[in-house]
Amino acid sequence: MICLSGSTGDLFSQEKVSPRRPNIIVIVSDDAGYADFGVYGGKEIPTPNIDLLAKNGTLFTDAYVTASVCAPSRAGILTGRYQQRFGFEHNISNKPVAGYKMSDVGLDPEEKTIGDHMKANGYKTIAIGKWHQGGEEKHFPLNRGFDEFYGFLEGHRDFFAYKKESARKFALYHNRQIVPETEISYLTDMFTQKASSFIAENSERPFFMYLAYNAVHVPMNAKPELMERFSSISDKGRRAYAAMMVSLDEGVGNILEVLKKNNLYENTLIVFINDNGAATGNFSDNGRLRGLKGSKWEGGIRVASLMQWPGHIPAGKKYPKVVSALDIVPTAIAAAGGKQAGIKPLDGKSLLPFISGQKSKTPHKTLFWRRGIAAAVRSGKWKLIRSGAQNPVLLFNLEKDISETKNLASLYPTKVKRMLRLLEKWEEAVDKPHWESASGDYNQIMKHRMEVLGREMELKYP
Ligand code: CA
Repeated sequence: MICLSGSTGDLFSQEKVSPRRPNIIVIVSDDAGYADFGVYGGKEIPTPNIDLLAKNGTLFTDAYVTASVCAPSRAGILTGRYQQRFGFEHNISNKPVAGYKMSDVGLDPEEKTIGDHMKANGYKTIAIGKWHQGGEEKHFPLNRGFDEFYGFLEGHRDFFAYKKESARKFALYHNRQIVPETEISYLTDMFTQKASSFIAENSERPFFMYLAYNAVHVPMNAKPELMERFSSISDKGRRAYAAMMVSLDEGVGNILEVLKKNNLYENTLIVFINDNGAATGNFSDNGRLRGLKGSKWEGGIRVASLMQWPGHIPAGKKYPKVVSALDIVPTAIAAAGGKQAGIKPLDGKSLLPFISGQKSKTPHKTLFWRRGIAAAVRSGKWKLIRSGAQNPVLLFNLEKDISETKNLASLYPTKVKRMLRLLEKWEEAVDKPHWESASGDYNQIMKHRMEVLGREMELKYP
């Protein structure tokens, strides 16, 4: 059980002097359902290890990513800046807009990543897993603040080996070397193994690890022995999803064990975040949250997120205020010693003083989202969705209506006007997209209609 208020006693009243700067691990999961984690109410799939992060750390009820699809969401996580500021509004596509080339599709080299910031603080850095930030040399993780890379460049790939050597973008890399497909067993486990060996190798110096699992994104590749464990689940897709979640959860468990074994457990800040809500096609479950991946509904953008750092972050606490994936970079910088690479302002805040109770205000009065024609604002308990002239503006009171069932826009015209103005003001400060969406506006318009409700209907507008 998690205690809502839990006294923090003297522990957080004074700055604890760390014997050494903490190691920092950011674990990202892919397309998981909000309600599929035990600590978020999931009953069907055991996630005991991820749940431990809530027991020994803080759970965020209202954590948001900056986009409801993979690549722009990860650009927000990696930079701590709204990705629209540098044109990374859409998922990677082959449609650069006028003024940009195909080779510009990816994370703008002018932006600093969390790897750059950690290196500025003297950290050894590694990126493991799915990159999805562009396929050019200038986008390659080794050129983006990471000393080591073990992963693939695309947005997905098979978890098992391909029968033939794969195209470069789907290949598993270790730094510059392509790992032969014959050496690939099961991707989730391989990422965990790499994470574990990196931790053991770097136990004597502060390190930063970006561990971006592609679990539980499609394809639904699960280990057969884990599929058997869920024979009670009749739907085969859901059974595979459950098994893939277990591999992810076991990965987190292994990492906790390796940290303990190397006496690093106490001095490591672990951040866990899911990159966007349940996808239409991976049998995941958002619970009470309406909508799926790709949408501005809560089910697209509100995600499971946890932080653990013994002695620095309260244990067994739920933090109920609005936080953002943008906060990961500033939180990591604050924990690592405070040096920021470059001078571009960050959009996030260090969450350390907020979750310790030092600061009682909300970290974010407003958060913004935009991907093409669909945009949204959250301001306090209010959320507004704007999705083109064809659709009415939607306004919800999330405190009373977490499932976004009652559009209150006509009841609160002044609030709607004020929130639209906030959104427009934010839009003036960001850039236009540097490339277009592969799927265009039609699905975005359709999926933000009140009558489009439930997975079956949303599947028509992926
Ligand atoms: Ca994703």
